[in-house]
Amino acid sequence: MQIIRERFHSAPIRRKLMILMVAISFAVLSLASLSFVINEALTTRAEVQRELAAYAEIIAKNMATPLLFNDRMAATEILAGLHEKPQIMAAFVLTSDQHGYASFVRTDLLHDPSPHALLREATAPGIDLDFDIEIARPIMADDQRIGTIVIQSDISALTARLQRLLMIVAAVLLVAGLVAFLLSSFLQQLISTPIVNLAATMEQVSRDRDYSQRMANTSADEIGRLIDGFNDMLEQVQLRDSQLQRYGEGLEAMVRQRTEELLQTNHELETTIEELVKAREQAIAASKAKSAFLANMSHEIRTPMNGIMGMTELLLGNGFSPEQQKKHLRAIRDSTENLMVIINDILDFSKIEAGRLELSTMPFLLRQSLADGLLPMEVKAKQNGLKLVVSIDPQLPDRLVGDLLKLHQVLGNLLGNAIKFSEQGEIGLSVQLERQTENGVVLRFCVTDQGIGIPLEAQERIFEIFEQADITTTKRHGGTGLGLAICRSLVELMGGTIWVESSPGAGSRFYFTVQFALAPADLEIEQEPAPACSLTDGHYTLPTLSVLLADDVEVNRELVKAVLSQQEHHFVEALNGQEALQAFRRERFDVVLMDVQMPEMDGLQATMAIREFERSEGRPRTPIIALTAYAAKEDQERCLQVGMDGYLSKPVKPAAIVAALQRFCGSGSCTTSTPQPLVMSAAESGAAPVYDREGLLERLGGAEALIPKFMGMFHNGIVHSLEGIELAITSGDTDGLRVAAHTVKGSCGNIGAMQMRETAAAIEAAAKTGDISGAPAGLALLRRQLEEFKAAVGVSA
Ligand code: ADP
Repeated sequence: MQIIRERFHSAPIRRKLMILMVAISFAVLSLASLSFVINEALTTRAEVQRELAAYAEIIAKNMATPLLFNDRMAATEILAGLHEKPQIMAAFVLTSDQHGYASFVRTDLLHDPSPHALLREATAPGIDLDFDIEIARPIMADDQRIGTIVIQSDISALTARLQRLLMIVAAVLLVAGLVAFLLSSFLQQLISTPIVNLAATMEQVSRDRDYSQRMANTSADEIGRLIDGFNDMLEQVQLRDSQLQRYGEGLEAMVRQRTEELLQTNHELETTIEELVKAREQAIAASKAKSAFLANMSHEIRTPMNGIMGMTELLLGNGFSPEQQKKHLRAIRDSTENLMVIINDILDFSKIEAGRLELSTMPFLLRQSLADGLLPMEVKAKQNGLKLVVSIDPQLPDRLVGDLLKLHQVLGNLLGNAIKFSEQGEIGLSVQLERQTENGVVLRFCVTDQGIGIPLEAQERIFEIFEQADITTTKRHGGTGLGLAICRSLVELMGGTIWVESSPGAGSRFYFTVQFALAPADLEIEQEPAPACSLTDGHYTLPTLSVLLADDVEVNRELVKAVLSQQEHHFVEALNGQEALQAFRRERFDVVLMDVQMPEMDGLQATMAIREFERSEGRPRTPIIALTAYAAKEDQERCLQVGMDGYLSKPVKPAAIVAALQRFCGSGSCTTSTPQPLVMSAAESGAAPVYDREGLLERLGGAEALIPKFMGMFHNGIVHSLEGIELAITSGDTDGLRVAAHTVKGSCGNIGAMQMRETAAAIEAAAKTGDISGAPAGLALLRRQLEEFKAAVGVSA
């Protein structure tokens, strides 16, 4: 049973369905047939019994008489009548005391008349002779029972009938089973096919993981719903699957991206770390360089300071001849000038650090400005046993616009280094055209030397602030390590670059490029030499002045008084702005010389207060000249803004003080009704001595011995130049006159013939206007002044 159940469970659904259908129809049919057969058997039996009972009744009635009359023959005959009834097998008549009286036994039907039956008849009538049905009825006579009739029948007919019936039933069952099988094998498909298909599709889906498959649905029953549900499920799985796939892909892309980012970050981190390490190394190197710079700077400042202090001490002692005093004073002046160079470098450096370096452009003539600017370098080179060779490409334009001062600063530094680091040989400067630009040119300057050279590893470094190629050599040569760094900033500001080619022992080549604009053809270019006034000759005149001198430092006040000590002037000294203001309120002054930085009230505040006081009192404006240690442009502009008339940068050269006073008070009247801002610096002056020997000496770097040679050159040249002026005048060539006068002005300025320079400038200015009527007189004056100059030179020599 267990096996059958297991088999059934594992059988395919179609077989199960078929088994079910066939089994059910077979069982139903069998039950129906059985009930029919049973009913048939019972009915037949009841009929036979009823029939037998009817016979028994009739026989009982007929038997009463034979029994009463004891007519056994008649009784037997009556029983024999039963032979006609084939279903009756036997019949017995029993007396009231149960003895057999008569009997009938169908012998013909008994195949084998049983002796047993006969015996029965004899011994126990009425007892079942194995026939299936027995009916007994009383035989009555006058309501008295006189005997019993017993009729027995067999069921062979019945059985035969039942057998027949059973055969029919079996046949029907067989046919019905066959039909049920056929029908079920057809009908089961209706249910099993979609289920089988469903199962197959499921298998395929799960095997192939292809969720795009769908089953066709043809029915609306539960299986149809099952298919719909399955399709739905597939749909959702597919959706999830594609979402998952998308997520997966997204995730993959994200992982890829993150990995890349991570790699990138890693890389950046590495480079950042590298950079940090580099920056740290640079910072350490910079700090070292700074310390070295400070030590070096302190040495550089101490050296001239030593000179100044030593010489001053010497001078304070007695017993020096005027000549010796002069010599010591010159040494002091040279040392202070060295100090100024250092201070200017530091100032430039601080401007670069603060990003305040500015270009101030002006038109200039390239060749002449180079010739003027290079003169001190030429002298310095000569003093060091070197030769300066300059070559300027003749193709280069001459009239340019740019920051000439900064160009000279760079050239001065490079040539200064070349001289400083060379023992012998030539110092070269060449100027070439690098390229043309839209409105100008880029020039390439090259400074060469045959000196100690620079090792390759130091060539980049030396352009950094504080960096020097070799501390030991620089100890010998001196220097701050700022020069090239300043040069690089200046060159870059002028739109160029700077670089070096060098190897130790083989000299150096410093290149730099600079952009210049071309000067418009109609622009007049004033080529100003750098005159420096001298007081050594002492030829100046000023009216007697009443001067308010405000400065908190005594030395400064004393210096001004000493400078002006040639004449009798009246000085009132103030130690701060407040005192100056009080003095100004008390007295009238021709001029105020005002220090800017003072305790309590500074020079700017004092000036504003003075101007306010003048306004309230209706007083005329008194010239106020600032004495300022602030060299920055905006500080100087601030002086003019608050109402000062001009300023002098400290350290103030004596000539500049005189020039400023001449400018404001030279006419005898010291008031300025209309304020004319005048910028006076140590390098500028309006004074015009016949011969400015100090200025010349300064330009020659103090090399007195060179003066005769330069004088010789000047005399040779000036005669021709004056002839050029004369020729231009006689031929009425104003342009030629202007050029010739300009040349005379330049060379006179350089040699220190300051009066001649002024006259030449006047002729040049006249030529510019086209009015040359005064030019012959100007030429005559020039010739006279030349003689005076020669005389002045002769006296001083
Ligand atoms: P300084 O000359 O004041 O030390 P610079 O910035 O001008 O500062 O120069 C930096 C360094 O470059 C010098 O100290 C020197 O070592 C090297 N240098 C500059 N010019 C030359 C040159 N022409 N020949 C050899 N070395 C030079």
